[in-house]
Amino acid sequence: MKRLEKVQVSILPTPLHKLENISKDLKDFNVFIKRDDMTGFGIGGNKLRKLDYIVKKAIDDGCNTLLTYGGPQTNHGRLTAAAAAKFGMKSIILCYGKPPKNISGNLLLDRIIGTEVLFMDTEEVRKKAEGKPHDEVVELYRNLKMSATRTVVKRYKEQGDKVAIIQIGGHSKEGLMGYFDCVEEIEKQSKEMNVIFDYVVLGNGSGGTLGGLLLGKKYFKSSFEIFASNISPIPEEQITRLLEFCNKTSKEFEIGVEVSRDDFVYSNDYTGKGYNIPDKETRDVITYVASKEGIFIDPCYTGKSFMGLLGFIKEGRFKKNSNILFIHTGGTPGLWTEEHEAAFNEDLWNDIEIF
Ligand SMILES: *Cc1c(COP(=O)(O)O)cnc(C)c1O
Repeated sequence: MKRLEKVQVSILPTPLHKLENISKDLKDFNVFIKRDDMTGFGIGGNKLRKLDYIVKKAIDDGCNTLLTYGGPQTNHGRLTAAAAAKFGMKSIILCYGKPPKNISGNLLLDRIIGTEVLFMDTEEVRKKAEGKPHDEVVELYRNLKMSATRTVVKRYKEQGDKVAIIQIGGHSKEGLMGYFDCVEEIEKQSKEMNVIFDYVVLGNGSGGTLGGLLLGKKYFKSSFEIFASNISPIPEEQITRLLEFCNKTSKEFEIGVEVSRDDFVYSNDYTGKGYNIPDKETRDVITYVASKEGIFIDPCYTGKSFMGLLGFIKEGRFKKNSNILFIHTGGTPGLWTEEHEAAFNEDLWNDIEIF
């Protein structure tokens, strides 16, 4: 296969260890964790592995500025900003929605790094989209994104900058390769620990992490099964598109494997109330993991994917005495966003004793 070159945004390998207390609690299952919340820069997270390849390509293309997209609390935006800072580049995040009144969570970190944070007001598009077929709605949002991008890129170009455009979540062929490599890393750690993983559980958003793991699993002939817990409900068409994308990537980089729908299991059952909406069940999972293991997971992604792991166990999907590897994809700054702090206030900030 064609091995691409990468830069080192992330510090690898990340730790992999057993969750001793949770495994004791669950009795018949050994749960391990891959600490991709500890990838090194900008408080860490899964997007850094993708950025290793994406930033290399941007530098090779002669770019000095990274532009990406996301919700106001995008972890990918924060990590793109951190990568840019490390390589002496500028960064821009184009956020969907309106700026919140107060800065918090990822937005605070973005501004501390010195990223330009801009907003695309989706209100008008939302009104225009009402009652329209799905394709037209997608087109309306795309138009908003394209026109904002053109304006910003022109502005930077006039200053003599060259902008690399990075898709939402770092979703790209290069990005997939970050998680392809992660499988090689897991296999090496598995040998060192003398533990064979039966299952790998992860949260799925834009699909790059899942896609990379699927390609890696095939290439390195891993024996584990992959269980993806979607962060918000995903239609089957999106999964089909992801598989096509993986196979295109495999061809382009001459990986020589093909992935199919049978290669993994996915679930829409552990999405809570919707993307980044606070809910009590997810908060209870967050406090459970923190109190048992001293590890923080987050309210938008990993709180839900760990809820997925516990759910899969309850559903009887895992063999007894099996080894389950949870991928901690990061996202911890989400704990300090306005809306999640307010929700935690109700659970955890009552009857505080004063002496
Ligand atoms: C982006 C993100 C995910 C989802 O990863 P994808 O590659 O987009 O599917 C999961 N967890 C966290 C914390 C993230 O920031």
